[in-house]
Amino acid sequence: MNRKGYLESFRRIDTEVENIQTEITKRREEIKPLENKINSLEEDLETKRKILEVIVGLEKTSNMEKPGEYHKSFYFVQKIKTNLLSGKPEYIFESDEPSMYAPCSECGQQYPLVMSHEQTFDSPDEDIWEQRAFVICPDDGVSQIAIAHQRY
Ligand SMILES: [Zn+2]
Repeated sequence: MNRKGYLESFRRIDTEVENIQTEITKRREEIKPLENKINSLEEDLETKRKILEVIVGLEKTSNMEKPGEYHKSFYFVQKIKTNLLSGKPEYIFESDEPSMYAPCSECGQQYPLVMSHEQTFDSPDEDIWEQRAFVICPDDGVSQIAIAHQRY
């Protein structure tokens, strides 16, 4: 075999590369709907897990030792105190029963306001606690309503 014959014997590789690329592009298009479906299922799963965290939290918090210090504690919201000057939430008061209501940001349906309360910073000089008020919708998940921080 001479040089020309050798090179000639590999000519078809060029076409094969093109065919494989075409095949890959085609297969990628085919799995796009499946990928979209999986992404949407994963979003749904995340939403449901967030809801579950709140529901389980609401059940557990009443027998929790030092609520919020090691694990987020959850309650219903009794009322939100805002700072008169800044208009920002200052303290969120907890309740064992649904008291305040707010709409889901997606569907507008009214749900009881719930809250989380946890220590987010711990030092000898200062502790910071964070409160978040939100509504959970069985379909749309969590809508944030207010955040308040306390420094002690
Ligand atoms: Zn909703």
